[in-house]
Amino acid sequence: MRLILLGPPGAGKGTQAQRLMDAYNIVQLSTGDMLRAAVAAGTEVGLRARAVMEAGDLVSDDIVVGIISDRVDEPDCKNGFILDGFPRTLAQAEALELMLTEKKLRLDAVIEMQVDDGLLIDRVTGRYTCANCGAGYHDKNLKPKVDGVCDNCGRTEFSRRADDNAETVASRLQAYHEQTAPLLPFYRAKGNLQTVDGMADIDDVTKAMRTLLGVG
Ligand code: ADP
Ligand code: ADP
Ligand code: ZN
Repeated sequence: MRLILLGPPGAGKGTQAQRLMDAYNIVQLSTGDMLRAAVAAGTEVGLRARAVMEAGDLVSDDIVVGIISDRVDEPDCKNGFILDGFPRTLAQAEALELMLTEKKLRLDAVIEMQVDDGLLIDRVTGRYTCANCGAGYHDKNLKPKVDGVCDNCGRTEFSRRADDNAETVASRLQAYHEQTAPLLPFYRAKGNLQTVDGMADIDDVTKAMRTLLGVG
């Protein structure tokens, strides 16, 4: 199974990718996570990406296309993958088409997660993750069962992304509308775009996705 999750920052791509990974035994490929790892490791890519990400702008197409092309060749992608946050521009979508053709791979679905802009600022500024296992939480929408303790691993340290502040979110939303939203008609024209209501409860979004993927 090979999927693209399309949606603005805070739409729930990462949250749902984690659940689909477990259900379908496929891997999540998040260009955002890979770029943050490169920044943390101080690699050449990280040095080039850091300021761009902090400003809420998009990193160059060449960098992310290169990262994805290498990653898809890894053995753990054999069973399939979920692209989370890639492609984000028409140039990336076109590069992806070419890449998949060359690798003789086919996309099964492109799923758009629809969430109104008004909800996204709160989604993003309230987001945090477990510093140990990466489990995702939200200040209001998804709290750990025991305050301050990760449900998944029991640890008590959490982190927030440097770019999850109100000011940067505004730039990221603008980048989404200007550069990523044109991918919707692009994939619709190819006949593989499907849409879910990303404003429903987290469990209901998962159900809707599993239903449209044919494994309810
Ligand atoms: P994305 O990967 O699209 O940027 P995330 O999956 O990180 O978005 O979700 C952003 C924040 O919103 C997280 O804190 C998450 O817990 C919360 N969230 C995700 N889906 C929902 C939902 N359907 N309803 C309410 N909150 C949600
Ligand atoms: P979100 O989960 O909020 O949608 P991501 O983690 O996907 O955010 O991305 C964080 C930042 O990383 C983006 O604002 C952008 O600077 C950079 N980035 C991630 N994926 C891409 C991509 N495909 N093309 C260009 N820049 C990207
Ligand atoms: Zn944890």
